[in-house]
Amino acid sequence: MSNSEMEQRKGRRLVLFPLPLQGHINPMLDLANILHSRGFSITIIHTTFNSPEPSNYPHFAFRFISENLPEHHRTCCKTDLVAFLSMLNTKCGPPFRDCLTDLLSDASEEPIACLISDAILYFTQDVASELKLPRLVLRTGAASSFCVFSAFPLLKEKGYLPIQDSRLDEPVVELPPLRVKDLPSIHTNDPEDLYNLVNSMVSQSKASSGIIWNTFQELEPTALETLHQQLGVPLFPIGPFHKRFAATSSPSGPLTHDGTCIPWLDKQVPQSVVYVGFGSLATISKTQFLEIAWGLANSNQPFLWVVRPDLIHGSDWLEPLPNGFLEALGGRGHIVKWAPQQQVLTHPSVGAFWTHNGWNSTLESICEGVPMICMPCFTDQRVNARFVSEVWGIGLQLEKGVERGEIERTIKRLMVEKEGENIRERMLCLKEKSDHCLSRDGFSRQSSDNLVRHILLLESLNFHAH
Ligand code: UDP
Repeated sequence: MSNSEMEQRKGRRLVLFPLPLQGHINPMLDLANILHSRGFSITIIHTTFNSPEPSNYPHFAFRFISENLPEHHRTCCKTDLVAFLSMLNTKCGPPFRDCLTDLLSDASEEPIACLISDAILYFTQDVASELKLPRLVLRTGAASSFCVFSAFPLLKEKGYLPIQDSRLDEPVVELPPLRVKDLPSIHTNDPEDLYNLVNSMVSQSKASSGIIWNTFQELEPTALETLHQQLGVPLFPIGPFHKRFAATSSPSGPLTHDGTCIPWLDKQVPQSVVYVGFGSLATISKTQFLEIAWGLANSNQPFLWVVRPDLIHGSDWLEPLPNGFLEALGGRGHIVKWAPQQQVLTHPSVGAFWTHNGWNSTLESICEGVPMICMPCFTDQRVNARFVSEVWGIGLQLEKGVERGEIERTIKRLMVEKEGENIRERMLCLKEKSDHCLSRDGFSRQSSDNLVRHILLLESLNFHAH
């Protein structure tokens, strides 16, 4: 962002509190950049767990709180995500409240206009109300999947939840085009915990002063309209956040980008590479890993594959690969531990993204016009994948599980057949819409202006109320 685009300082501070997982930290920091460019000062409250590097953000103030999680709960964000999230909501309460109280009483800083916290950190609504501070919510997922979350009581009443294996292919008539197998689920010790977590997220978002979305109107008009009717709070779809600023090469989380990706992509033919990456949390079995490896090898397309060191159950990294596997491909396959994904997706050599359909990855792919191969693993990824394959028609879903023959066929359908050409055309249309929404008269720009006005109004109402 150039200095000329930077608005005059507003003399107001915003306090932002991200959920400490990669797919939530990134959009919150992007939002912080957007609001900073609109003249607000920014303080980020962060857990010591998974914290970003403050020196990458010298224009923000950081406050760290200890989330008091026992060591085994810190690692359970990979093994039992629901237990981890519920625990965060319980354990962060006292240190977060102390930190916010301290910030509010600091007369040397600008007055705080409002708190913006991740929707999953639902406990912050009570803290904000108690401290008489307006709270806005950032929902880092899609509006469409939020509609599904807000329908959880109905889905339970109608018997769709908890999911039964015998009903997986049944349509969910209340939420077309979803089938039972597309409903969000996460492996957890107690399914009731997921139900409670989702309901708290929805009810405390409803209790907030407004919800900010990393999506855009033209992508999800129906879901946004439904939520507008249902939730009764102002909605601000101002995405895609990451396209407001030049892609940064400094990662905001604990993982370091591998610098070999871009030089390797430079050597490939335009639109030939399948980029394969399953985000920061998903895990796969050794069998699935080998099916993916052989499917990629047999497809004859070049591939760039992110294999995180903790991706494969019971394995440190690439040990399950047969000896000489990569060498036999003669440079056609490149494997890294973590990639500069946003830069990779903008590279002209990339022709498809095989993704787990985390919302950030899905949106990043749409913004670069890269068609997807969908392999959702858990939670909202399944809803996102169904929208990609059936509503927007911009990708193919691996419907029959992770099997090398199916993988090879799907890659060929997308990369060399007519079907793939049609998908690519639809994707390019959607990419244009995503570009347009950020233009001067685009909906996301207008929505950002509304958000800034809303924050200033909230602050003045709050000021007069005291
Ligand atoms: N990401 C990255 N490099 C990688 C894999 C992922 O920079 O090798 C980033 C990606 O660009 C996205 C985020 O990590 O912004 C993952 O978020 P997403 O919602 O897609 O998935 P999650 O990690 O939450 O499952």
